[in-house]
Formats: sequence, structure tokens, C-alpha cells
Amino acid sequence: MKTKSVIVSVFFWITVYLLLVLAPLMVLNIGEVPQGSGFWWDFSMALGFAGMAMMGVQFFLTARFKRASAPFGIDIIYYFHRYLAIAAFIFIFLHFLIIRIDNVEALGVINPFEAPWYMTTGRISLLLFMLLILSSLFRKQLKIEYETWRITHIVIAVSAFLLALSHIEGVGYYIADPEKRWLWTAYTLFFVLLMVYVRIIKPWGMKKHPYKVVEVKKEFGDSYTLALEPEGHAGMHFKAGQFAWLTLKDSPYHIKEHPFSFSSSPHKNRIEFTIKELGDFTKTIKDTPIGEIAYLDGPYGTFSVENYPDAPGFVFITAGVGAAPIMSMLRSLADKKDKRPLVLLDINNDWESIIFRDELEEMQNHLNLKLIHLLTKADDSWQGEKGRISKELFQRILPKDLRELEYFICGPKPVSDATQKELYGLKVPLGKVHFELFDMV
Ligand SMILES: Cc1cc2nc3c(=O)[nH]c(=O)nc-3n(C[C@H](O)[C@H](O)[C@H](O)COP(=O)(O)OP(=O)(O)OC[C@H]3O[C@@H](n4cnc5c(N)ncnc54)[C@H](O)[C@@H]3O)c2cc1C
Repeated sequence: MKTKSVIVSVFFWITVYLLLVLAPLMVLNIGEVPQGSGFWWDFSMALGFAGMAMMGVQFFLTARFKRASAPFGIDIIYYFHRYLAIAAFIFIFLHFLIIRIDNVEALGVINPFEAPWYMTTGRISLLLFMLLILSSLFRKQLKIEYETWRITHIVIAVSAFLLALSHIEGVGYYIADPEKRWLWTAYTLFFVLLMVYVRIIKPWGMKKHPYKVVEVKKEFGDSYTLALEPEGHAGMHFKAGQFAWLTLKDSPYHIKEHPFSFSSSPHKNRIEFTIKELGDFTKTIKDTPIGEIAYLDGPYGTFSVENYPDAPGFVFITAGVGAAPIMSMLRSLADKKDKRPLVLLDINNDWESIIFRDELEEMQNHLNLKLIHLLTKADDSWQGEKGRISKELFQRILPKDLRELEYFICGPKPVSDATQKELYGLKVPLGKVHFELFDMV
């Protein structure tokens, strides 16, 4: 996408977001407004409605709408989702806290058998929202398995949201007018339809576009390449460096999907993912039978050389299986007989862990590629680069026009952070450094 159209899209979607969040607040204040109990009461109500509208938009953010996510990148969208959820929760919590301090009688009794049902649903939803946020922020510390977390996250989010909506409907404050009640109901319906789209309609579309596993190839570095071909359709058009969510051995309605970068060139009909054995799912890849049906949701992501057609050259810095999207870009550049200068710094523990080492060697014959292997646990026999990333290393391996080039970094967070720090130290402009992290939560 060209920079100008990206900026326009970013503004457009931020405006849509603000409208979705602020519209209910503005409309609720039009026409007959109920007699308030002073500033704090009204402020608390405003926070409650704003927090709920923000929570509702969370379903939009995670619905993976390609048009809405493209200008930001889906990883950034997931970061928005995380931080906006915290902001929304703070609003909702303050809504409760202000009434608790300012007008405690309005909350009535806590006992659910005596309290009005809509006050109880409000209280339960507040607790569920708190659980949602805490279990997401501290998932790893609490040792909650990713898939268990994901399923409970969806169930708790939907329950908390519906309970909170019933609280608003039950209280009826601000939405007592039939028109306003209709508006809020329409808003509710919109969010419910979003959930139906994500969980039913979208997987149904994927079911009509299945793929078949045609090869499972062992690679170096405890990795396997899974090759897929489309079954009865034209396949997926992606940009080199993008990724998709893969579902195997299941229907697309199942919740067990995992994101993987394409490692193949987009100029081939066959789609490949190179997957490192890491946990429950990735350790089963090697046993995938040929002919197994797979479903893909994608492509997503903005991590692609194809977004920079005028760049004078590219620098790739990768560690471990972070080489997968970089390989897709190199293969694509080779297919297009691109002659621009390329530098690849491939970081691995040892020689045996370099996933694509043979093909990379060979690629130097077709591409204007300078290939540097950096081994972090090399023994004395290794003659190449060893140790850690440093400013000196970059000064040694990068060409003189280093500030003109586009940089693509993919690897674990510490490597990505260290690389970005050194590049900024070398005055490489921020906008020229692009990175992909293999962790969204
Ligand atoms: C944009 C992106 C591209 C990726 N590309 C590749 C690739 O090309 N090759 C590759 O080997 N790996 C890639 N990954 C990582 C891959 O998705 C995880 O390694 C895999 O999902 C782990 O699943 P598991 O059940 O084997 O491991 P687990 O032991 O269950 O999980 C290990 C860690 O991986 C993460 N994870 C697990 N499941 C998911 C999921 N469904 N969605 C998101 N994160 C999850 C969690 O942070 C978890 O703590 C990519 C991740 C992202 C976000």
C-alpha cells in the first residue's frame, strides 16, 4: 500500500472507531435526558456507556476484517485489543466505583436473591471483565495453556458482555425513551451479529475453500515444512512475508487455529509453512498424513518487501524459525529475478539449527545476496560471525547507504529489540525498520 493511502486508511478506521465508541454517548444525550444526580452520577454513567461501547468494539477488532486491519497490521490490532480492553475495563470499574463512593444506596443490596436481577448481572459482568483482563495479562505467569486460555477468553468475554448489556437494558436509565432503547438494542444486535460472523459465517466461507497436505518435509533446526495445495479453488493470493491462521485435522469451526507465516513464494500454486517444534500443536506437524484437509484464514500482515517497490535494497535480520517469512520474500525476489542488493543476517545457535542453510547458499547464485550466519553458541572451529548483535557487526556487514535500505526483522523479542536498538543507534529512520513477532498475546 502507498504511504498516502495508508495514512488515509489509518485516519478512516480511527474515525470509525471513535464514532462507534462515542455515538451511543452522543445519542443518549439527545432529546429528553433523565434528571441526573449531579456531576459524579452523570460522569459515572458516561464512563459506563463509553466502557461498554469500547468492549463491544473489541469484537470488531478481533474479527480480523482484512480492510480494517491492513493499514495497521493484525499484530498491532491485537495490541490495540489488549490495551483498549484495559482502558474499557478501567472505565467500567470507575463507573461502579464512583457510584459506590458518591451514592452507595443506588447500588442496593448485594445478595442476589434480594437485589434486582439487573444489578446482579451488572456485578457478575464486572467480575468477569476483571477475570478476563487478569487472565490475559498474566496468562504465562499463571501457566494457563494457550488453547485453554483462548476458549475461556471467548466464553468469558461473550458472557460478560451479554450480562452487561442486560444490566443496561434492565436499569433502563438513559435508554428509557423508546427511540433510545431501540438504538441501544440495534447497537447490541450489531455486536451479536459480529460474533455470529466470526464464529459461524467466516468458518463457513473457509470450509468452502479447503486445502490438502501434499508434503511434510524435514528441515534443519527441529522444523518441518508443510506443503498445501488448494482443493477445487484457485488458492490464496498473499504477499511474500504475510501469514495465515492454519487449522488442521478439524473443521474450521474448531477453535484450534495457529498463525504461521508463508515460507513459500507467492508466485507458486503450492503454499508452504515452515514450522518449528515448540509445543502441543507444532510437535504434531511431522505426523500429518498426506491428504489431510487444512483450512486457512488469511492472508494477514504488512511485513512484506512488496510494500516497498521503490526501495534501493533490503536487509533481513532473522533468528531461528523467524527465517520463514524472510525465505518467502527471498524466494519471491528470486522468482521475479530482482537484482537489488540484499543482506541477510541469519542468527542461530549452531550450524545444525540453520533451517534453510542449503537453499540460502544456493540462492546467492541467483540473487544479489550477501549472506551472513551469526552463531551464538559456535565452537572454535567456526570461522564466521559469532556472539551477539552489536553496532560494530552492523557497521561491518551493512553497505554505506544503510540509511536508504528497508529492514525486515523476524525473531524472538530480545533479538528483535536488540536489533532495532542498534539500527536506531546507526540513525536508520524508524519508518524503514519493520518487524514481525511470532507472539500476539
Ligand atoms: C504472526 C505469526 C507468525 C508466525 N509464524 C510462524 C512460523 O512461520 N513458523 C513457526 O514455527 N511459528 C510461527 N509462529 C508461532 C506459532 O504460531 C506458535 O509457535 C504456535 O502457535 C505454537 O503452538 P503450540 O501449540 O505448538 O505451542 P504451545 O506450547 O501451545 O504455545 C507456545 C507459545 O506459542 C504461542 N501460541 C500458541 N498457540 C498460539 C495460537 N493459536 N496463536 C498465537 N500464538 C500461539 C503462545 O504464546 C504460547 O505461549 C507465528 C506466530 C505469529 C503470531
